[in-house]
Amino acid sequence: MKPKRRSLVCFFLLSSLALAQPQHPHKKSAKAAPVTRPKADPALAIHQSALIVDTHADTPQRFLDENFDLSQNTPVSEGHIDLDKIKQGNLGAEFFSIWVEPEFKGHYSKRAMDLIDSVYQQAARHPDKMTMAFSADDIVRAHDQHKFAALMGIEGGHAIENDMRLLRDFYRVGVRYMTLTWSNTNEWGDSSGDIQDPNVKHHNGMTDFGKDVVREMNRLGMIVDISHVSDATFYQPLLVSQAPLIASHSSSRELTNQPRNMTDDMLRAMTNNGGVVMVNFYSAFIDENYRKISSDPEKVKQRDAEVEAYKKAHPHPDGSPVTYDEYAPIEKKWAAQFPRPPLKSLIDHIDHIAKVAGIDHVGLGSDFDGVTSLPEGIDSAADLPKITQALYQRGYTAEQIRKILGGNFLRVMREVEATAKRLQSERKESAALSFEDIELMVGNRVNTAQLIDRINEHGVNFDLTPERRTRLKAEKADDAVLEAIGKGRRK
Ligand SMILES: [Zn+2]
Repeated sequence: MKPKRRSLVCFFLLSSLALAQPQHPHKKSAKAAPVTRPKADPALAIHQSALIVDTHADTPQRFLDENFDLSQNTPVSEGHIDLDKIKQGNLGAEFFSIWVEPEFKGHYSKRAMDLIDSVYQQAARHPDKMTMAFSADDIVRAHDQHKFAALMGIEGGHAIENDMRLLRDFYRVGVRYMTLTWSNTNEWGDSSGDIQDPNVKHHNGMTDFGKDVVREMNRLGMIVDISHVSDATFYQPLLVSQAPLIASHSSSRELTNQPRNMTDDMLRAMTNNGGVVMVNFYSAFIDENYRKISSDPEKVKQRDAEVEAYKKAHPHPDGSPVTYDEYAPIEKKWAAQFPRPPLKSLIDHIDHIAKVAGIDHVGLGSDFDGVTSLPEGIDSAADLPKITQALYQRGYTAEQIRKILGGNFLRVMREVEATAKRLQSERKESAALSFEDIELMVGNRVNTAQLIDRINEHGVNFDLTPERRTRLKAEKADDAVLEAIGKGRRK
């Protein structure tokens, strides 16, 4: 039997029992110091009663590139998450980020798979304390078993290498969300990170393939994550997606003028689509003063030069890129020159999003282990209770706080799962072939005559746009197949 988490009822019973005990006779007549009743902290009780889900931590790079093990209790200067900190912070579930640095060009999926493996390795090493989870039910089950639930989300749509089959493979190995872009624009979606860069080829949002990626994510049950995308990209999946979206780690632009943060209009769009915005804790995203001083061009230039010099001086013998974790100490040292913003700044963001998007549409997406500065008081996952305390002090009720800490996200995850189930059963009923069906058959070199027979028999449920035509041509589809598709459109 695993030791049961001490329940609230138990806690109150024990404290009142302690008070009810007869006092020692010798003390009876003494000028008794007032009995100090151990004051139960209501905020802490709320925190302990919640199932807390954080939707973004970059720890897998530490697993893979530093051979870090979650059982190692690390100083907060080195890491924000380990098993002790998870326990102290009562963190129930974490989405570990499968962040594929663009420097891995040519090896994106390999890098992603290595990071995915590193998360599974941690779960395998600590089966008594943690478990892999792939659904909302899994998260709840892990929580009931007093285990930490590890989930995975891909950061950067370029990881699928423009291939729908890889997207499906990533779902099969357990990935449950994907940011359409990271800070780099990919071949089907624009990023907020380089939207001003005239040297980058942009798409005015998303290409047709990008929209198909969203549809396929819906069908699979992979959550569409709009953190990092450009403003134009943001509005397009909203029109295409049949399931609610998330922003796994994004804050408010009204409060902190960062292009990666979300405008109030975007927040309201998230309400309309039933999604959830998970607030990023990074100092430069939550505090306008910190953002300004830390974006000083001269200072940024000096940091970037230092990082470049480090990379040059420490090349990998096999030619693979120098990873973020190797040069992170330089960035952390650089960030430390700016005073940390107060915790209030982070709480203001939660508060603002709760007001604009609604209490049902806000959550936590810390970005632990991926950022160089956090607000005062939040040194690691162990400090999560301080967020609950601050919300409680602002008058949030226990129910509202539990929604922010994880309830809202779980609701969205369940809706995404239900949408996938519905789309999969609808697809079984409808005989018309989807673009993915045909792309798969062409890719698998199904005999042309057979393919045309199937198209003639069932029809297709999509328009053959120029982009789709190019994709099928690239897969060496016969012209006769394209012609059959053109004739086979069913409404
Ligand atoms: Zn990110």
